[in-house]
Amino acid sequence: MIELRTPTQIEQMRPAGRFVASVIKALSEKADVGVNLLELDELAHRMIKDAGAESCYIDYHPSFGASPFGKVLCTSVNDAVLHGLPFDYTLQDGDLLSVDFAASVDGWVADSALSVIVGTPDEKDQWLIDVTQRALDAGIDAARAGNKLGDISFAIGSVAHAEGLKVNLQFGGHGVGKTMHGEPHVPNDGRAGRGLKLRPGLVIAIEPWFLHTTDEIEFDPDGWTIRSADGSRGAHVEHTVAITDGDPIVLTARD
Ligand code: MG
Repeated sequence: MIELRTPTQIEQMRPAGRFVASVIKALSEKADVGVNLLELDELAHRMIKDAGAESCYIDYHPSFGASPFGKVLCTSVNDAVLHGLPFDYTLQDGDLLSVDFAASVDGWVADSALSVIVGTPDEKDQWLIDVTQRALDAGIDAARAGNKLGDISFAIGSVAHAEGLKVNLQFGGHGVGKTMHGEPHVPNDGRAGRGLKLRPGLVIAIEPWFLHTTDEIEFDPDGWTIRSADGSRGAHVEHTVAITDGDPIVLTARD
């Protein structure tokens, strides 16, 4: 079921958005050569506790996970791109790290992700991150009342295709509200003018993710971490966005 939020409810979602944005910012500042992924998870855990927020991940246990997630953060490094389960790994110079974080504040969820390069950037990795960010910006710009859901997908996919990237449709964006994953599914490619009509009050996570040279993925034995099938690196960015009568509101905007 697709739920629409009143303007008052969208205002009530702002603290969750601000909190998630502050965690993503803190993580991107802390991520450095020599920092362990478990330290990043601990930082997010501490921030959740201090804010009186609730993790959306720690008890999350869909059918594909071998066990409940058990951490509060996704950390995907290099050829891992989505759902990376934090483990005992120390970041190396040139690593491409994607962090994905969702939490609930006052009963409302926000969800956001960011890719960063640790230490010395490889030019092609930076390019991949920039293209993914441009696709997110294009998707957000299409998130307007009167447009169709396909317009968001088309905007994201067009940026990828123009750069010669393939788009995987197995995982994409989603509705956000009292829980992390609601309807509608928001594919990262599609046909303009098709699908659900966008209305004020629809709140969705828009989350393009692309791999350098493939759209095929593989799962780690933990059932969580998703990697490129060919070992090429991936980037992932995400914002929680509210559709309004006017411009879209990016609830997880980082100043
Ligand atoms: Mg997310």
